[in-house]
Amino acid sequence: MTETTTSSGGRPSLPMQGVPQPSRDEVLNLPRVHISSHPVMAHKMTALRDNNTQPPEFYRLVKEIGALLAYEATTTLALETAPIETPMGPMIGERLAGGIGVTPILRAGLGLAEGFREVIPDAQIWHLGLRRDEQTLEAMEYYNQLPHRVDLQVCYAVDPMLATGGSAIDAINVLKRRAIPRLCYVGIIAAPYGLLKLSQTHPDIEIYIAALDESLNDVGYILPGLGDAGDRQFGTF
Ligand code: URA
Repeated sequence: MTETTTSSGGRPSLPMQGVPQPSRDEVLNLPRVHISSHPVMAHKMTALRDNNTQPPEFYRLVKEIGALLAYEATTTLALETAPIETPMGPMIGERLAGGIGVTPILRAGLGLAEGFREVIPDAQIWHLGLRRDEQTLEAMEYYNQLPHRVDLQVCYAVDPMLATGGSAIDAINVLKRRAIPRLCYVGIIAAPYGLLKLSQTHPDIEIYIAALDESLNDVGYILPGLGDAGDRQFGTF
């Protein structure tokens, strides 16, 4: 991780320095927040966080964790009846009622979106490019590949690290301009600060995460976290 500098004087910029942060306990029971308690998830999370885990393995783990999160986040999807013929005769089956959208926030959300596709292969993937301004930690939109025609029952914004909450809040703002009946955020690790911000700004969405960590450091990285989720997936150190 590199220290950021201001454009003016080259002095270190520490945007979270001195910013009060809620504790883990204070945000543990927020409404509509789901923190995985699955033992397989805990096992994979330890491998993911480990500094010895190299990018190919890291990316594979992000995909697997994405699939587990997709499984947890889709338990309440709406179904419709579907009459079919089995080899033994007619029956009334069920199918997902309406499309599923997945919005990976570029670029770190790509691995998670792949995990979702393993569970829901026909999900539409709506790419959204948001970059954090390292000075202000504000999210800036630089790429948007969202379709004009919307026929989804739900869209999942996916981004591994819910740190200050800026990108997640902005992504949900972008998605709220489309007529999507239900929006969810899915991440791997949340800091209490970002989780509280997202939950307070968008109290109507469901939030699914694999783990809730302790805090943010002065430059907005999650502790203990896993470092930079984009760099670790794509080997750009
Ligand atoms: N983004 C990351 O990739 N890691 C963090 O800890 C925070 C934001």
